[in-house]
This record gives sequence, structure tokens and C-alpha cells, in this order.
Amino acid sequence: MDTNSTLPTNGRATAREGVDGMSSASEIRKPAQLPSRFDVPVSAIGPLFRARLDRIFPCRVDFDLDVNVRATARVLGGYYRSRRLVRLYVHDTEQGRRPLEELFDTFLHEIAHHLEYTEPGSFSARACGRVPGRMHSRVFWKILGELKYRWVCLQS
Ligand SMILES: [Zn+2]
Repeated sequence: MDTNSTLPTNGRATAREGVDGMSSASEIRKPAQLPSRFDVPVSAIGPLFRARLDRIFPCRVDFDLDVNVRATARVLGGYYRSRRLVRLYVHDTEQGRRPLEELFDTFLHEIAHHLEYTEPGSFSARACGRVPGRMHSRVFWKILGELKYRWVCLQS
């Protein structure tokens, strides 16, 4: 399985992937927000997120980024390993434009998948730690934690 989709499962918790029907991880879902009229243009999201990432972790292996305007009800994003493609879905079917910081959160999540495949050694891991049937390895969580930590440090 080389495709990861980011899917909320219910109103309370968010399972980032459900490809195999298992939710090995969950997150607290943010309260619904009205789309901000001050959101950056969709065309600016990709360059903005790449610039943010460069400040916290310059990737050794480049990736493609598709900021997709097709409205989705459940899927927030995905990483396609064979194409090294990160995809973000910016529109919610009911709520409209997803908040920028929620999109960035999804972006970091998918980048963590990219990094777990392309440079696990950068995170003191010998190899990608994927276990068949489980969407998120320990290495994945270590990488995502490090990315989020660096981003938070940059804000303060
Ligand atoms: Zn994931």
C-alpha cells in the first residue's frame, strides 16, 4: 500500500488514514470554523507551505505538491509514495474553504510520510518502520512530532 489518505472518521476524533479500515491514530478535531475572507489565495498555499517547511526541515528529496480544489467531505489529504506527491484538499463539501492552519497541519502530516520513506536516517531511524496493516509507524510519529516541535519553536 503506497497511498495514504487523510480521513476524519467521526465528529470527535480524526483518523488520518483509513485505507485498511484501521485507525491506528486519532486527533482531536478542531471546532468548525467559517471560512475566513482573508484566507490567502489557493495558488499561494503551495509556495507558502514550502517556504514554511524550508525553515523547519529542508527535505533532501523533493516532492510534488498538489493543492487540490475539489471539495471533499472526509479526505483532507494524501501522500502518494510512488510519485512522491503530497496532495491537500482545500475545500470541505459543507464548510467551504478549510482554515489555513488546518491545511498546514495536514501538510506536515503528509510530509512526515514523505520523510519516513525518503530519509528515515535523518531522524535516527535505520529504515522506514512501516508495519504491514498499520498506517503510522513509530518513525512516522517521531518525524511528525519533530516537525511540529520545530514549527512551534519558530513561533515563539
Ligand atoms: Zn498518515
